[in-house]
Amino acid sequence: MAAPHPDGAANGRDSDPGSEPGTAHDRDTDPWSGAGPIVKREPAVKLLNPVSGLEPLAWSEDHRVSAASSSSVAVMEVLCDPRSGAQDLLVQRSSIPLPDRVCVLKVGPEKEVQQAKDKLASSKDPAISQAFMLDRVMNPNVGNLAPLRGMKYACWSPLGCDSNGRSLLASLTLDGRLTLHGSPRSLHWSPLVDLTDMYGRMLEEKDYSLPGAEAPLGPLDDPAELRRRYRMQSPVRMEWSGVCTTQEVQTNNECKDVGTVLLAVLMENGDVVIWHFQLPFVDRDSVVSCNTIRSGVSAPSVLAWWEYEHSGRKMSGLIVGSSVGPVKILPVNLRAIKGYFTLRQPVVLWQETDQIPVHNIKCISLFHPHQKCNCSLVVAARGPYVFWCLLLITKAGLNVHNSHVTGLHSTPIISMATNRYAGSIFTCSLDGSVKKLKPIFTEAAITFKQELVALPEGVAGRRMHGIALSPNGAYLALVSADGLVNGQHPVSRNYQVQFITLKTPEEAAAELLSSTIQNLFQQADLLDLVRLKVLQDKRIPPHLLEKLDDKLHTCGTPYPWRLKLFLYRVLYQSRQKASAEAQWWLSHEDTKVFIADEETGEEDSEEPSTAEDPTTTTTATENSNEAEGGAIEEQTSEIIAWIEEMESHLAREHMKRVLGEVYLHTWITENTSIPTRGVCDFLSSDTTYNDRTAKVLIGHIFKKMNKQTFPEYCSLCKEVLPFTDHKQAVCSNGHIWLRCVLTYQACQSLKYRRCLLRDSIARYAVPEDPDWIKKILQGPCTFCDFPLC
Ligand SMILES: [Zn+2]
Ligand SMILES: [Zn+2]
Repeated sequence: MAAPHPDGAANGRDSDPGSEPGTAHDRDTDPWSGAGPIVKREPAVKLLNPVSGLEPLAWSEDHRVSAASSSSVAVMEVLCDPRSGAQDLLVQRSSIPLPDRVCVLKVGPEKEVQQAKDKLASSKDPAISQAFMLDRVMNPNVGNLAPLRGMKYACWSPLGCDSNGRSLLASLTLDGRLTLHGSPRSLHWSPLVDLTDMYGRMLEEKDYSLPGAEAPLGPLDDPAELRRRYRMQSPVRMEWSGVCTTQEVQTNNECKDVGTVLLAVLMENGDVVIWHFQLPFVDRDSVVSCNTIRSGVSAPSVLAWWEYEHSGRKMSGLIVGSSVGPVKILPVNLRAIKGYFTLRQPVVLWQETDQIPVHNIKCISLFHPHQKCNCSLVVAARGPYVFWCLLLITKAGLNVHNSHVTGLHSTPIISMATNRYAGSIFTCSLDGSVKKLKPIFTEAAITFKQELVALPEGVAGRRMHGIALSPNGAYLALVSADGLVNGQHPVSRNYQVQFITLKTPEEAAAELLSSTIQNLFQQADLLDLVRLKVLQDKRIPPHLLEKLDDKLHTCGTPYPWRLKLFLYRVLYQSRQKASAEAQWWLSHEDTKVFIADEETGEEDSEEPSTAEDPTTTTTATENSNEAEGGAIEEQTSEIIAWIEEMESHLAREHMKRVLGEVYLHTWITENTSIPTRGVCDFLSSDTTYNDRTAKVLIGHIFKKMNKQTFPEYCSLCKEVLPFTDHKQAVCSNGHIWLRCVLTYQACQSLKYRRCLLRDSIARYAVPEDPDWIKKILQGPCTFCDFPLC
């Protein structure tokens, strides 16, 4: 066994108490002070039920980790909140329960199906009757076997698929029900569509003979045909494509950007069903089309999208792997999506039927430093090996290099994780060893640097079931059960999800600074490492602040301002904690003055032991503490002033953008839901704000408004709501309404959306809103980039 700590499994439990990392003292010291970037983060999240299915763990681009279990999908939202003073990860749990009903596939008229089944069950030939009775797909809930219960697989859509701009979850149960779930409100899940049911109805309408799908084999009472009808709608795995944006010409000749996404579902018979959804996905009406193609792959086990951009052309296809060995890319022709190209014919990446099952496939886009162009790296976990294939389009056509990475694991790989931005691949085998593969380009092809991921204590030695990488590679989540205790298997296993860091805060800060994503929410995993550093040090790393200040004025986008605001908010929290400690210390001192002892309590100790301060030094300590308290207070008020300054900068910049939209989209004097006049007055009345473009814009808008003011009125007392504050509106009778952070309208209804970090609110879009206002309302929070939901 190639476990990193061979004896870890045996004494993992015993060595715990002494080094439990959960105590405050331990965590106040820098966890990265040791060697390497890998540190265990608390808390570990216990799962109520055993994990089930393949690749049970998945990490979404919007920072939600799903764990598929025998009773539900447990969802853990990892929230990077600057207002949380805690040094632990902030994990919010929710869950999507398994449907109550067993999934029954429709294969024909009920009576005929029953007759066909009876015929098979009562067949004199045991080869037919036994095979039929044991077939769990055809017999989900009859016979002596308990129905299959549990999740088989779950996967997250890319960002921007639901009405809040977040990800959707596609989940597949062991009995074959594929559903999409969305989270309309934070921590609430609702089923959006049952795709298994929808596909079954389509098949029924077309009499089980869809163009592109496997052709019928005979009448329904033919066992082969009955089996075919089941297998053609039993999903094996599914995978989301990236979001495709296309332009649609409206009736008024205006172009509108339309987002769509594809979900490819691999069926047991090798058919691939490609669902095409319009975004944002709302309900079954968001389904644009559904096409079936035949892969021709026998015993298909897994699929992945092949997405490749080459000299401005987007290529796509589907990579399908088989449980008997082969891997190939299929062309996917989608006439509906303009600007996307596909292959002329299938490309076989691995053709040997060597009985080594393909467990997982990932496709990574990389830049080839020698060929100076993009290339596509396909990696597949096959048994204990990683099969790789480098695809490159040159003048000579499609170039394919492939090989296997061997000697990685001594048992089959059970989980493989990678992400779009980082080229590294993580693999995990059942014995608990986790390896990292880093691709290194050579002139001809590629080699891989192998590294063992040294799992920290408490993680090492556990029985691993799956791993998942955070979107920017800052964290690795691992789902595991108890390993051996004193060489024995435990009586019952506890399943838990643990988190380890893969980067240091310094590396995370450097990535945030040089980021091309320019969005805090999308980089919240990196941000969380920096948050932790600021909380621990009670200061922002000076070189980070320096570089950020340079960017503030040269960059011209809100991103560096939002990053700085975030860091100051964390800094404020760290000071709150420091100040609370100082105050507690002072009051503590007062009661303890009469106690004499030799030792002096440490200044920054969180829990000074009950007894010990010499009377002689008390006054001095008190004074210094008072002075310290005063200094902290002064610094705190300075921080608050900075926070307010940055918030109003971001608000003013957004107001300018909103006014630009108003100017662009209103042709006559018009009363929109945006308090245009109020925003203009607010910007002009601010003497510290001297922006020429804003002044010019306001001048143009005033001309257009033609002396009209269109004030807002308080819905309770009908008084005018003045625009004196970008966060709230107060009428002369003292009624307070919060302002929408996106449109600045006073939100006078009880229903509104809140920023995930709770620092702002936004109103819901209503059907009367023109498209340009709806578009403004789709934006993220202007202070922090986090979604409003
Ligand atoms: Zn009022
Ligand atoms: Zn916010």
